[in-house]
Amino acid sequence: MTSAGRLGPSSANTRSAILDMVRSGGTVTRTELAERSGLTPTSITRIVKSLIEDGLVVEAGFLGSTGGKRSGLLELNTTGRFAVGLSLDAGRLTYVVTDLAGTVIGRLVSPGIEEAGPGDDVVRIARELGQLLVQLDIALESVVGVGVAGAGLDLGAGAERLSLTATEWESFALTKALEPRIGLPVLRDNDAACAALGQYWAGRIPATQDFATLYMSNGFGLGLMIGGRIARGSSSNVGEIGHSIIDIDGPQCWCGARGCLEMLAAPRAVVAAALEDPKLADLLSLSGDPSRIRPDFDAIARAAARGESRSFALIQRSARYVAAAVLSVVNVLDLDRLVLAGPGFADAGAIYVREIRKYVTPHARTRGIHPVVVDLADPGLDAAAGGAATLALQHALTPHATAPRWSEVEFDGGASRLA
Ligand SMILES: [Zn+2]
Repeated sequence: MTSAGRLGPSSANTRSAILDMVRSGGTVTRTELAERSGLTPTSITRIVKSLIEDGLVVEAGFLGSTGGKRSGLLELNTTGRFAVGLSLDAGRLTYVVTDLAGTVIGRLVSPGIEEAGPGDDVVRIARELGQLLVQLDIALESVVGVGVAGAGLDLGAGAERLSLTATEWESFALTKALEPRIGLPVLRDNDAACAALGQYWAGRIPATQDFATLYMSNGFGLGLMIGGRIARGSSSNVGEIGHSIIDIDGPQCWCGARGCLEMLAAPRAVVAAALEDPKLADLLSLSGDPSRIRPDFDAIARAAARGESRSFALIQRSARYVAAAVLSVVNVLDLDRLVLAGPGFADAGAIYVREIRKYVTPHARTRGIHPVVVDLADPGLDAAAGGAATLALQHALTPHATAPRWSEVEFDGGASRLA
């Protein structure tokens, strides 16, 4: 966050920082804003007036009178604007609409993008998104933007690679294709980073904590919130934990290395191990179809959760590999917390949490200094979509606090929507 000392009375960043103080403060007075920002009461009065005129902040009564002049309370006008988040997943698309506080007020789930090429899906996404807004009676003008969360790499210059089954999605510039169709600014980031941002913005994690979100869909991603900012790395591609090496003599990975976490613990590996046991495959009615990894994995996870012993052993082994990879991250970065998110944890998340705690708690180097909390994201299945909406909110409301790169490249209309 911008330090108070550097705030100039008339910059856009100042307005954004004041709005963020109102947002994160719950209810505040103008005097408190002046104290926290270091700006003069006159500047604060002027900025607050413009925020009220723009429908972003509302008066919320008065602080109890102590005989002198009563202080007006201010708070975020939560229904002043809205944001859309979309989680782009091979298994399914999840749309959420949130208000300015990040509270989900509507959601829609539709089939994933496994089969169709991007052209068809872009048309479908625009249609479904429009339908959801109509259903919620929200005008396009009051939406600050659309955040899109998905797996993949940022290739730079607006190009991106989605690690999805359909090869047509390789190097497809989704944001460029979507923006003109839906008439809203589109931002994209990886699902793990979105999940981390969402948890942070919603206040589910203390602002002082450094934490990671481990996201599991078909593969793994890691979102890192360090010092209140999403860590991005040199090319916006932080978090490729799926290719941390767990066994140097392990199976060949498609990335070129051997024994990567993804090869040992991702849904595909769990399903492959289950298929080696014909009785188990039969019991769980596994399809064995490479394009149906997720439903097959979900069947194993559900069986494990209800105590079927062979399924439990497979999930437990996957969880132990994950725990080993995660412990390294916790130790390297001295994290306070790990949050598990994504559809891969939908059915057997509790088993993963238990196994990771069992491994991390007694082995973390900092165990005598501070605890390392391991938990499931809240709300689990909407973590990426909700976080993607947060991405749009953050860019529109508080660009002063926004990390650079990936998100920045695609976004140029958000701030002006609030002007
Ligand atoms: Zn690999």
